[in-house]
Amino acid sequence: MSKVGTFMQLTEEDFQGFRDTIARFIEQEVAPYHEQWMKDEIYPREFWNKLGEAGLLSVQTPEAYGGMEAPASLNMLILEEFSRAGYLDIAVSICAHSDLATPYIVDFGTEEQKQHYLPKLMSGEMVACLAMTEPDAGSDLQSMRSSAVLDGDEWVLNGSKIFISNGILADLAVVAVKTDTSASGAKGISMFAVDTNLPGFKKGRNLEKMGMHAADTTELFFEDVRLPKDALLGTLNGGFGHMMSELVRERLGVSIMSIAHTEGALESTIDYVNERKAFGKHVADFQNTRFRIAEMQTDVEVNRAFFEKCCALYDEGKLDAATAAMAKLSSSEMQCRVIDGCLQLFGGYGYIMEYPICRAYQDARIQRIYAGTSEIMKEIIGRKALAPK
Ligand SMILES: Cc1cc2nc3c(=O)[nH]c(=O)nc-3n(C[C@H](O)[C@H](O)[C@H](O)COP(=O)(O)OP(=O)(O)OC[C@H]3O[C@@H](n4cnc5c(N)ncnc54)[C@H](O)[C@@H]3O)c2cc1C
Repeated sequence: MSKVGTFMQLTEEDFQGFRDTIARFIEQEVAPYHEQWMKDEIYPREFWNKLGEAGLLSVQTPEAYGGMEAPASLNMLILEEFSRAGYLDIAVSICAHSDLATPYIVDFGTEEQKQHYLPKLMSGEMVACLAMTEPDAGSDLQSMRSSAVLDGDEWVLNGSKIFISNGILADLAVVAVKTDTSASGAKGISMFAVDTNLPGFKKGRNLEKMGMHAADTTELFFEDVRLPKDALLGTLNGGFGHMMSELVRERLGVSIMSIAHTEGALESTIDYVNERKAFGKHVADFQNTRFRIAEMQTDVEVNRAFFEKCCALYDEGKLDAATAAMAKLSSSEMQCRVIDGCLQLFGGYGYIMEYPICRAYQDARIQRIYAGTSEIMKEIIGRKALAPK
């Protein structure tokens, strides 16, 4: 279990100060440019440096490496603010960098790996991605085929990955591959820190998506990529266990993004129904509208309460996989359900792209799929619930 964040206690004022910093950052560095980034389907590389300068990347990095050693709750707050403001694509990109890739360096990196990567991941000098999924191995990660074979003092990496968030801009890829092809199931998988400029490391096309338009998502190809022996992260052939422990944090991240994104959508819907008129009264005056808003607000609040509990457990190192899966399952399903309900209250305008609720609907859909689909979350929860006591 990650030790990240167990050393530093933040006050309510610290959190508020951070919220203000993010709000200013969004106003100055995101809002004026986001539409163009969606058209480009990628952020300019300098945007990552700006995130780093503002102190919004990899904030859990230990003080020994120049970091803030912040608790997970602060990282979650960053994802929360971008999501609530309607920039779910930016939140997911930060999540991939700070909550998916960086923890492998913090938790499993050698001293040299930490000194080399962490300062650069904090400053935005390096962008990171986590590459687990393969064309024939998504939910079933155990069947991955990419491999690394030891040749003298080097690992030789071959294979491919798909759907990798930040893959186009990444300088560092944390990659899961088979290191013992004779081992079955979860055995024989290891993690590596791979510099993306090494010979044989190729980036594929930027995949065109339903939503999350400014966030790049790509395929990666490894053709005899030679890695130094010390590129290994953590235990040889222990990679599956490492992935399962780190997925807890990723699922918590998806959960807060779901909740905050829905809160933002609901706020804008309340404003809309208070303005819009039909049959001589405001849409808000229909009983159906009051009931729908009441149902949706309750849905959000209940999920937030469960998230807060999970986040506190995580900071104490006590959040287990099944409970994190419950948070991810419940909040991402709630997000799609509620945002669909919000869109309905916008009528035809909800279907028009210039209304942010339309983009929110498109962006939300992936949350039930990545970081483990809803069906896989149910498997994890069900297995634990039915396990012999
Ligand atoms: C925009 C985007 C960003 C992503 N970012 C990343 C990233 O940064 N890094 C990364 O490694 N991956 C990433 N992914 C991959 C993502 O995690 C996978 O797509 C996801 O885990 C599902 O795998 P799959 O697509 O292969 O679907 P499949 O595994 O083929 O699933 C197909 C269907 O079968 C169901 N299913 C599968 N197994 C079972 C089962 N045992 N019981 C019941 N139903 C089952 C699934 O729930 C789903 O409905 C991303 C994907 C997208 C689209």
